Amino acid sequence: MENNWKFETIAVQAGYTPENGGPRVVPITQSTTYKYDDAQSVADLFDLKREGFFYTRLANPTVDAFEKKIAALEKGVAAVAVSSGQAANAFALMNIAKAGDHILAVSALYGGTVSLFTNTLKKAGIEITLILPTATEEELQAAIRPNTKAIFAESLCNPSLVVCDFELYAKVAHANKIPFIVDNTFPTPYLCNPFDYGCDIVTHSTTKYLDGHATSVGGIVVEKGDFDWAGSGKFPEFTEPDASYHGLIYTKDFPAAPFSVKLRVQLVRDYGIPMMPFNAFLTMLGTETLPLRMERHSENALKMAQFLKNHPKVSWVNYPGLEDNPEHGKLKKYLRGGSGVLCFGVKGGKAAGEKVMNSLKLAAIVVHVADIRTCVLHPASMTHRQLSEAELEAAGVTPDLIRLSVGIENIDDIIADFDQALNNA
Ligand SMILES: *Cc1c(COP(=O)(O)O)cnc(C)c1O
Repeated sequence: MENNWKFETIAVQAGYTPENGGPRVVPITQSTTYKYDDAQSVADLFDLKREGFFYTRLANPTVDAFEKKIAALEKGVAAVAVSSGQAANAFALMNIAKAGDHILAVSALYGGTVSLFTNTLKKAGIEITLILPTATEEELQAAIRPNTKAIFAESLCNPSLVVCDFELYAKVAHANKIPFIVDNTFPTPYLCNPFDYGCDIVTHSTTKYLDGHATSVGGIVVEKGDFDWAGSGKFPEFTEPDASYHGLIYTKDFPAAPFSVKLRVQLVRDYGIPMMPFNAFLTMLGTETLPLRMERHSENALKMAQFLKNHPKVSWVNYPGLEDNPEHGKLKKYLRGGSGVLCFGVKGGKAAGEKVMNSLKLAAIVVHVADIRTCVLHPASMTHRQLSEAELEAAGVTPDLIRLSVGIENIDDIIADFDQALNNA
């Protein structure tokens, strides 16, 4: 890869370079294993003494190409692809925190992430405090404990569309010598590069815009590469010998990407939830057109937000791309566009909103978001159904909130569909 390539070029070209006479497109390596001529080669692979593939649970050439493309797009040093966005967030935290540790998370979060944090990781002994996105620097600092191992936030929250205050969280995290982790699913690296604003680890549900065509569930964790694990003194698992790998020391033996190597050889190896090669192939195909799609998603969503704002049956619209939106200042500072998701409420509340959803013809009611087809969902009764009322409020989900994922169909057709549904319901 050329060092000075721009984003669009990296999206198309990075990750895979064909050999002379080789396939132009990255092949789907649908094989669990790889053949070597002698036993020592395989032993060296197991010991991480040489690079190569030996078992697809740990690494696979198609998945490797996808990981390299995403790492390049996020401007990170390495990436590890896993089976879902949930797995990406779970592993990003479990790679640095163990039972008895604590994480500080900004409460504007996806519902599945709230469940993961407040139930499953809690049961595993990792305690996570949710703090409101309005918290000040003093309040954040006061919430940090001696055993706090990271700050976690979403760059553009699903579905409250709160924009992350990157500089604030990075400042507090680094003052306490802990990493700042960001779930960058909604903006994608095309609209936002969290590493430019002090973030250390990025996660994605690749199921959303990176695939973009609603074909493949997947996730990825990306490492920026300059966090000082040794200097922090808070991460002995990075700086002391790993008994499960004959005393390997991640910061010493893999100084370029200790976080990614550790995540792969401990968590992906032991829990066994890697991304599968066919999903990596499809998601990579989607990523190649990411810049074009994100521009159209953002453009269509802004037009849709303006249309809904002026519609007499609509009570409110939330889209950070609107100039009078309270998040617009942060959006302009950190993102290159508003992305394709907006939220609105219908006059008459939840029941009226349901009628509008049922009257849509082009837009479908589906449990999905962030793909090329326009779709709607009611988070309070669907994706965020398991949350308590207090958790719903903290996540920014009101009972009447309809989440609209604006696709890349012609905007006139999308607007006409919502116009007829709002007028007929
Ligand atoms: C969908 C989503 C997830 C979970 O990803 P899956 O691929 O569904 O497991 C995590 N974070 C955000 C912001 C999401 O939108």
